[in-house]
Amino acid sequence: MRWRTSAEFLIGPQLGNNLLMLGIQAEAAEALRRFRIHDIDHIHALEEAPGLGNGGLGRLAARFLESLATLEIPATGYGIRYEFGILDQVIRDGWQVEITDRWLKGGWPWDLVQPFKSCRVGFGGRTEVWRDDHGRYRVRWVPAEQAIGSPHDVPVLGYRVNTCDRLRLWRAEAADAFDVHAFNSGDFYGAVEQKVSSETLSKVLYPNDGTDAGRRLRLMQQHFFVSCTLQDMLRNLRKRGIGVQEFATHWAVQLNDTHPAIAVAELMRLLVDEHHLEWDQAWEITCRSIAYTNHTLLPEALEAWDLGLFATLLPRHLALIHEINARFLQQVRMRAPGDEDLLARVSIVAEQGGKAIRMAHLATIAAHHVNGLVALHSELVRKELLADFARLHPERFTNVTNGVTPRRWLALANPALNGLLRETIGEDWPAREQEWRRLESFRSDPVFLDRREACKQDAKRRLAAIIASRWEQVVDPTSLFDVQVKRIHEYKRQHLNALRLVVQYLRLKHGDTTGMVPRTVLFGGKAAPGYSMAKLIIRFINGIAEVVNNDPDAEGLLNVVFLSDYNVKLGEKVYPAADLSEQISTAGLEASGTGNMKLTMNGALTIGTLDGANVEIREQVGDDNFFLFGKTSEDIRHLRGHYRSWDWLERLPALQEALALMEAGHFSNGDRELFRPLLDQLRCQDAFFVLADFDDYLRAQSMVDEVWLDRRRWTTMSLLNTARSGYFSSDRSIRHYAASIWKVSPLSLSMTNGGSRA
Ligand SMILES: *Cc1c(COP(=O)(O)O)cnc(C)c1O
Repeated sequence: MRWRTSAEFLIGPQLGNNLLMLGIQAEAAEALRRFRIHDIDHIHALEEAPGLGNGGLGRLAARFLESLATLEIPATGYGIRYEFGILDQVIRDGWQVEITDRWLKGGWPWDLVQPFKSCRVGFGGRTEVWRDDHGRYRVRWVPAEQAIGSPHDVPVLGYRVNTCDRLRLWRAEAADAFDVHAFNSGDFYGAVEQKVSSETLSKVLYPNDGTDAGRRLRLMQQHFFVSCTLQDMLRNLRKRGIGVQEFATHWAVQLNDTHPAIAVAELMRLLVDEHHLEWDQAWEITCRSIAYTNHTLLPEALEAWDLGLFATLLPRHLALIHEINARFLQQVRMRAPGDEDLLARVSIVAEQGGKAIRMAHLATIAAHHVNGLVALHSELVRKELLADFARLHPERFTNVTNGVTPRRWLALANPALNGLLRETIGEDWPAREQEWRRLESFRSDPVFLDRREACKQDAKRRLAAIIASRWEQVVDPTSLFDVQVKRIHEYKRQHLNALRLVVQYLRLKHGDTTGMVPRTVLFGGKAAPGYSMAKLIIRFINGIAEVVNNDPDAEGLLNVVFLSDYNVKLGEKVYPAADLSEQISTAGLEASGTGNMKLTMNGALTIGTLDGANVEIREQVGDDNFFLFGKTSEDIRHLRGHYRSWDWLERLPALQEALALMEAGHFSNGDRELFRPLLDQLRCQDAFFVLADFDDYLRAQSMVDEVWLDRRRWTTMSLLNTARSGYFSSDRSIRHYAASIWKVSPLSLSMTNGGSRA
């Protein structure tokens, strides 16, 4: 069995997906008709999607579990059942306003509570030394506080197989709901105080905004779900009569980023303190079971916990980490005697700027494998981010290019294309990504291409209908749907896209429309609540939308829509309808991206930089079927340090004019100060190299226009994108993990009544 721990699981709505996995969509629709409900979509529209993740990382965890089930590998995903997930977004006067995500308000029918499998988790307190019956010294942790984690299990079905895996989400409860002593002595608030503070543990998904607020709670959350999870694993072995020494042969542990990295210390504590194993044996078990997936390339985004905070909350873990570190540094000293700098660089304890525990180092030191998300990212992890570790243990560093599930993102989200694929390459296409290449043989078949185009039109009309009803905007489904949906972040460069729109708008105003094709430009995404520049970018996009959409000169050529509250459910409508996929991050900064894969599968053509998964998407689909632009990560590295954006601006007259228009308040109802921080950032610093890539981006966009005019060519390219995107099925990633990292094979369950995908 494997388990994957992740602080986030962004699972999306369940009903439609489960019907698809079971193969009973038609039966369900038929059953509803007996209740005079003729459109099952009405039911789907009512379902709340749990927002238990921020973006890509949470989606990755969810889809890997789905692929594990589809490949018939027994597995459990472990995480937290946040009462409030990622904040909902509404747009008021062009600004993002956050409101609480109350996804549980109407109840949620998809999880089963398992109160008898609760676990106790401690915090704070002190450690005691004692002597066991054999006269050996032992350490015992005496926590000051305890919380209880109660498991809520969500079934995760495999596609047309009998395997059902499990997502086990921990909900925090007070260990003693009610302090009778305090109550009897008249302290009525005190009587429930502990209950309140324990339950906040699973109250909210910590917003991914890099502020200090709530860091203590965040560390508590991490320890809470990791401790529950490991206890659950050990209990499972005990139940099956298997000794703890066998842990690593029965469980493979995959850490989804460093949020669960405390598992290294907690597993050591359980094995050494509670199961009384010797250090070396416990360490061997820990290292043989744990592997780590890195998610970021920004050194400043690597998790590090203040040592003082750590000592207060987890005193025993801190002592264990010091011991792990001392032993590790001793090995490093043997390898590189006298290299004090190296020791300081690889130590788990950072000494500069206040002592801190570096979670990525802890994870890397224990893990038998460390992987990035795509080839470029894994290479940068090896060569830059964790280079010292890679020199010490090169064999541990590897890459597993991640993927997305074709069930949710194609079969479910794109019913028209699903129909065409079933007919052409077989019922089972969603689980057989190797077969998709067969679509290539239709590349010059005009009848097939017409049908392919009709599927895209269908998805676009459906999205247009939603835009009309929810955002009260009319968009033309025959125009080019140009899509950038993802978290709003400067490195993702929604502002590059927005500035290009201002330049286009100015061209329209100047009457220079040669070569321009009608476009509907769609944006969607949330900004972290504390990230003011990202919020200003949202305001900027909405400012542009308001001006452009009300200007007769732009009518029929340019339409801009900001799709508020972008989430999995809305994504299911947007990805299938996209013609053009904007993947325009600063090269070297997007670890992978997965939106890019979903869009490629659905036949959108990518305009993108050589960043993250774009590199491999381009390799797969062919460079003729991809609009490439921009500086490479290598170029960016050379530019850093002596980049002067104002020099670049000198050479960009069209952009100068666009900035001047912004500055004049044209997109802010005359307010000349509103966009000042954004303008200053671009002119004086431009940390994300928007100006360095601007011209090339415009050039690539005019290539897009040119190809769009030749619709047959576009549709062929789109077909080839789908046909060649099989590599990005998460099944392929999971097979890779299973064979080379976890060393596990499927366990097929056959049932007499059939139903198994033969
Ligand atoms: C796929 C997905 C993402 C990730 O998008 P990127 O373009 O890879 O950043 C974020 N949010 C939701 C809701 C998604 O479905």
